[in-house]
Amino acid sequence: MPDSVSIVIPVYNERESLPVLYSSIKKVMDDLENPYEIVFVDDGSRDGSLEILEEIQASDENVVVVSFRKNFGQTAAMAAGFEYSKGDVVVTMDADLQNDPADIPMLLEKIKGRDIVSGWRKNRKDPFLSRRLPSMMANWLISFVTGVKLHDYGCTLKAYRRDVIRNIKLYGEMHRFIPAIASWVGAEIVEVETRHHPRRYGTSKYGISRTIRVVLDLITVKFLQSFSTRPIHAFGPPGLVMAGVGFLISLYLSYEKFVLGESIGTRPLLLLGVLLIILGVQIIVMGLLGEMLARVYHESQDKPIFVVKKVLGSSADISGGYRAGGKP
Ligand code: UDP
Ligand code: MG
Repeated sequence: MPDSVSIVIPVYNERESLPVLYSSIKKVMDDLENPYEIVFVDDGSRDGSLEILEEIQASDENVVVVSFRKNFGQTAAMAAGFEYSKGDVVVTMDADLQNDPADIPMLLEKIKGRDIVSGWRKNRKDPFLSRRLPSMMANWLISFVTGVKLHDYGCTLKAYRRDVIRNIKLYGEMHRFIPAIASWVGAEIVEVETRHHPRRYGTSKYGISRTIRVVLDLITVKFLQSFSTRPIHAFGPPGLVMAGVGFLISLYLSYEKFVLGESIGTRPLLLLGVLLIILGVQIIVMGLLGEMLARVYHESQDKPIFVVKKVLGSSADISGGYRAGGKP
């Protein structure tokens, strides 16, 4: 039985592209054996995209349309698409015809035995200075920081096995980090070259400012990856170093004042010492607050700090109903 497939498409003011997109996806998918659905998520479009989607939906029961009350952004639209789709494999793509539906069969072939197939727009048809250059730098940075090496994090055309995305919550611009987040919990990822076309209709929804947001999100993702269960390990060391150096400076100044009898009131070093002690203590306290937040985060949702692939065997009941881990 071939995998069922959900094609998830965020749509924001893409009126002209939608009919062409729909018919080319349909053509590609009807040739495959896989049962499929197309989930359009209308992200608060104001150009009549929703009406076109409603028309398409009325004529085809394999089409699902989720419509937002206002524009929540591409990441939110993709999260809603994951939520409202049912296929074993989820393929995401842009609505603007820049991704090519003809690549879908190849993605479905590649995902067999894997968790994520990520598209790489090798011949990307976007302006160099405002798009390709910042994207090259961002991809390099994300690969370096997350340790998951991909050429093109930004390509929406990707295929995910449902198990992988089920537990990933998306914030900010984080849909592009799904491969990195998933690989940290053991997902197997492969990158494939995909086609790319210039935007035919409408305009791009992003400018250069996206790069900054992506870098900020990268800091969040990296922090959560490394320290979400132990924030004091991130804040503690710099805090201790600062407070320690501040303490030594103060000690030295006290020696000058009380033993050598010199006046220290006008020394810049005094300010530095006090500053370092205050900052150091504050950073450590932030780490402690982080520790409390980490407990609230994990325990309020019963969120484990590990991911189990499978458990082999279940021993006979030797403990009166209680297993290791404390769960009845
Ligand atoms: N998009 C969206 N909500 C937004 C912005 C964009 O759903 O707030 C959709 C948009 O309709 C398109 C995809 O996200 O399907 C990618 O947007 P765009 O083509 O503008 O990005 P680019 O290809 O220029 O990076
Ligand atoms: Mg585009």
